[in-house]
This record gives sequence, C-alpha cells and structure tokens, in this order.
Amino acid sequence: MLDMPALDLRPFYSGALVRYGGRFHKVADPWRQPLDALAGLLSPIGTLRDKVKIGRLRSRLLESTLEEIFRQPNIPLHEVLHEEGFSPSIIERFLRPFFSGVFLERSLETSRRLFAFVFRMFAQGITALPANGMETISEQLAAGLRPRIQPSAMVTTVDGTEVILSSGERVVGDAPAAIRLVPELHSPLSRSVVCLYFAAPQLPIEEPILVLNGEGQGLINNMCVPSQIAPNYAPPDTALVSVTVLGDPPEDDRELEQSVRAQLADWFGKQVGQWRFLRCYRIPNALPCQQPEMIEKIPETVRLRSGLFICGDHRENATINGAMVSGRKAAEAVLQTESFKAVDAAKRFNNPT
Ligand SMILES: Cc1cc2nc3c(=O)[nH]c(=O)nc-3n(C[C@H](O)[C@H](O)[C@H](O)COP(=O)(O)OP(=O)(O)OC[C@H]3O[C@@H](n4cnc5c(N)ncnc54)[C@H](O)[C@@H]3O)c2cc1C
Repeated sequence: MLDMPALDLRPFYSGALVRYGGRFHKVADPWRQPLDALAGLLSPIGTLRDKVKIGRLRSRLLESTLEEIFRQPNIPLHEVLHEEGFSPSIIERFLRPFFSGVFLERSLETSRRLFAFVFRMFAQGITALPANGMETISEQLAAGLRPRIQPSAMVTTVDGTEVILSSGERVVGDAPAAIRLVPELHSPLSRSVVCLYFAAPQLPIEEPILVLNGEGQGLINNMCVPSQIAPNYAPPDTALVSVTVLGDPPEDDRELEQSVRAQLADWFGKQVGQWRFLRCYRIPNALPCQQPEMIEKIPETVRLRSGLFICGDHRENATINGAMVSGRKAAEAVLQTESFKAVDAAKRFNNPT
C-alpha cells in the first residue's frame, strides 16, 4: 500500500545498547552486525545459550508463514520466554525492556502471536523511520483517496448508520472513541505511554541505536536519538532525544521531566543539564491490549450494521500493519455493498474517465 522509496526510510543500528550495572552493553544482531555480535558474546546481557536460542527462534519464525504465526497456541509472551528456556538475565536485561517498549507493558502478557509476528518483522527487515516523520505514512495513504480526508474533523455521534461530523463527513476514530460512539462494540483495554523529547547540543551516543534500561529501576524504559538517522526530526543545530516512559505515571509533566532527567544524567553525565526540554506527550490509548483472551474476542466482521463499518489496530493487531490490514478489509467490504456499487456505477456513467 505504501511507496517505500518515497518514505525515504532511515535505518537504526540493528541491535540495542543495554544499560546494566552502571554501564552500556551493546547487543548486536549477529546476522547484520556479526563482528559486534562476536565482541558482545561474553557480555552480561544473557548467556551464550540464550544467544543460540534467539538464533533458533529467529530461524523458526522466518520459516513460518504469517498464517502459521497467527494460528500458534495463544499464550502470553512471558510463558513463551519460559518455555523457550531463556535465562533470567536475558529476559530482565534485554527481552523485557525491548518488548515492553513494543507492547507498552512490562508484564509481557501480550499474546505469543503478536510477539512472533513482531519478532519476525524485526528479523526480516530493518528498523527505520521515514526521513520526514511518521505522518508521511498517513499522508501517502490520504493522498490516494477520493474524497480527500479532512483532518481535525470531530465525530460527535453515531446515529443508526450515520457517523456524524461537524463537517458532515463520515469516519470513526480510535478504539475508545468508537466504543463510546457505538455502544454494541465491546471495549478493548488500552495501553498508555508517555513520550518526552529533549534538544541536546551534542550527541549523547555515537551510533543510531535503541537504548534499553536493563536495570529494572527508574522511569525510563527506552530512549533513542531519532535525529541521528533523520536530522529533520530535531530543532536546528541540536540532536533530538526521545525518551519512553510506560503507562500513565501520576507525576505532572514537570516532575516527570525532572525524574527522567536525573536518570539520564546518571547515564550520560553532566551534558544532560544542557538539554532543553521540548515536549511531553501523554498518549492514554496508545495501543490496544493484546492479551491472549482479548485477541480471541476480536470479531471477524468489519460490518457493524448496514452502512456502518469499523477498522483500526484494535480489530486486527496492535501495529501500523494491523491497522492497515483492518482498514483494507473495511474498504473492501464497503466496495462490496450494493449501495456503493450503485453509486460507483452512476459516477462511472456520468464520468467515464
Ligand atoms: C509512541 C508510539 C509508538 C509506536 N510505534 C510503532 C511502531 O514502531 N510500529 C508500529 O507498527 N506501530 C507503532 N505504534 C502503534 C501504531 O501507531 C498504531 O497501532 C496505529 O497508529 C493504529 O492506527 P489506527 O488507525 O487504528 O488508530 P490511530 O492511529 O490511533 O488513529 C485513530 C484516529 O482517530 C482519531 N479520532 C479519535 N476520536 C475521534 C473522533 N471522535 N472524531 C474524529 N477522529 C477521532 C484520532 O485522533 C486518530 O487520529 C506506536 C504507537 C505509539 C503510541
């Protein structure tokens, strides 16, 4: 669905820098960064056996089809990690912070199916950002649509088959909004996240790499410097530091910034005092919960009532890919409706080009 070259994807380093025991340890992808992976074999982030097991899991998932992945026994991720025999050191120092950052939950209750899908995607492709921001993805999708999407139009009511906007257009928003507006939908729980941004005069890390908190303490789960790969992300002459805090902490933005800054100062030293705090975004419904029992409850149908269709990551899986698959299913269902075919035929008759 996307014009990938036009997104101008900028790749991150294939691996992570794990903060543990007061130091940073590099965990490199042995398929893409073999020398770094070799150098890290004896790091305290997991045992040699763990590294072999990760390799085996990777091969198994790359050999599976996506259909097989989504048919796997539906158990929580923490059970999978136990079953695979990973050591506590790789779980606590690497796998938990890494997948907490992806699924926005530390208990690793998310379904094995989503884990397997995401793990396979990380193995199969690069981890990247579009050069000009994530919004270029939705801009591309919107550019191909008629009629044009009108942003910032609020849905106020769903009345029968009518989704009513102030502008008169018809859309349904995110999961909680859709649930509020359409009472017969079951309510999926959501995961929350807070993203804090700083402008740093100097780069705190040498490589464009994800930094994980492997210490199990402190508010920060992960951080990165997106402007290292896509300079447009930062204010002029600075580096953009992006910090992720899971959940919806009770502290106000100022207190949160101070606690996060103190942790960053422990990691990167005095330079953190010069970082300019830019913004704190609290995202209450960042992702739908995707625990095994929740996945089982997702209805197959995209048609709620005659003339009313639903889509979103909460109807498929909690990724951009899931949201797009769901959108495509809903669009295909709309195209199949008699009323759409009639309107389409009339349009073609009036304007054959
Ligand atoms: C910080 C963060 C990082 C992420 N990173 C990744 C990643 O690296 N890879 C990945 O695959 N996924 C990632 N995700 C998840 C991904 O962003 C979502 O799964 C995806 O955007 C869901 O798309 P959607 O269209 O279902 O919902 P959304 O993108 O949430 O879109 C719903 C839209 O509805 C609008 N809306 C809500 N209520 C109303 C209303 N009443 N009237 C009109 N409009 C309304 C909202 O403003 C919003 O624009 C991330 C999510 C977050 C929060």
